[in-house]
Amino acid sequence: MSAIWHPFTQHGLGEPIPHVVRAEGALLFTADGRRIVDGISSWWVTTHGHCHPRISAAIADQAARLDQIIFAGWTHGPAEEVAAGLAAIMPAELTRVFFSDSGSTAVEVALKMALGFWRNRGEPRHRILVLEHGYHGDTIGAMSVGARGVFNRAYEPLLFDVATIPFPAGGAEQATMDALERECRAGAAAFIVEPLILGAGGMLTYAPETLARMRAVCAQHGVLFIADEVMTGWGRTGTLLGAEQAGIVPDILCLSKGLTGGAVPLAVTMATEAIWDAHLSRDRADMFFHSSSYTANPVACAAAAANLAIWRDEPVLDRVAALAGAQAEALAAPSGHPAVSATRILGTVAALDLVSDAPGYLSDLGPALRAHFLDAGLLLRPLGNTVYVMPPYCIGAEDLAAIWSAIGDAANRIA
Ligand code: PLP
Repeated sequence: MSAIWHPFTQHGLGEPIPHVVRAEGALLFTADGRRIVDGISSWWVTTHGHCHPRISAAIADQAARLDQIIFAGWTHGPAEEVAAGLAAIMPAELTRVFFSDSGSTAVEVALKMALGFWRNRGEPRHRILVLEHGYHGDTIGAMSVGARGVFNRAYEPLLFDVATIPFPAGGAEQATMDALERECRAGAAAFIVEPLILGAGGMLTYAPETLARMRAVCAQHGVLFIADEVMTGWGRTGTLLGAEQAGIVPDILCLSKGLTGGAVPLAVTMATEAIWDAHLSRDRADMFFHSSSYTANPVACAAAAANLAIWRDEPVLDRVAALAGAQAEALAAPSGHPAVSATRILGTVAALDLVSDAPGYLSDLGPALRAHFLDAGLLLRPLGNTVYVMPPYCIGAEDLAAIWSAIGDAANRIA
């Protein structure tokens, strides 16, 4: 019996826990000799494929030279390289880079930057605007700005003065804009949003034009706009950032997951000069009070620098476009299936809802589908009755076909 308590796992169900010993590209290999296709990029992180030789080599090299150094008031080459690399490809307005360790902490940092901005300007604001069905991580601050529901009911009342803006479902965009306008007018510190697609909320997509309108309303009322691109960043949506498709630049940008190509944990929160300036004075009480022991760990930064070099040297967006095309083609087959109630696609992310008497994250379909996919040699982890495919960009055509064939089988069993 293992002593390990796994995340998002109901151990009482006794589901099998595969033991992985090696990974390469889009493939995982288990201790019992199985070859598994990673259909979700190991929780949406692996962009270029597992154990990309350039990233693995950079990690090994850095680990042998400088493993760790305090980052409060100290610096090192890999962090400087990451900051310079980000400056070269991210929107020019985002001049400042703050490191942390996960998507959740990137969000915590973003929220604290927004609160600190208003506090240091002598106009404290506390209200955070959030989008219905949003998800921003599992630390308590990040959870507090996520949709209230099954993920966080146990931890209520949570933190923050939060106002929820309705999701711009097809045709309901005006209700979204009206609510946002009203809340911005009443005064809020920031609006936090996942650009173009809400991930853990069910892979729900909305139009770039809506994102552009939401950004404009916040700008008009001086409410800080936080783009959480932890999932959508690094090509997932077809472009480097989702925000690009709306032609917008946020005040604060959260990145993690594919920042290191998915190899080791690291995150950044990027901010405009105005947010930096609000923390800049000779008063130590105005500084940004955030760190963790491992902020900007050199080994993680070396992996991120290697990821940036891959983006610079290799045709990553061509691979993204090829995968996006293959996903769109594959999604066409189940689209008319009687057991499929809806399909969605954005860039490399394709999703469908299976008909269910009790839809949602706790749908009984979840565990049954996981078992079905594992039997078929696949790592897929549906969000309840929503099945999605989000593989590494290097996945082979046959492996992708195997995923969609197993999804078709699952739909046939239900219909
Ligand atoms: N924000 C978004 C949009 C996410 O999808 C996630 C994770 O899936 C997070 C934040 C949290 O990231 P992490 O799991 O690295 O803490």
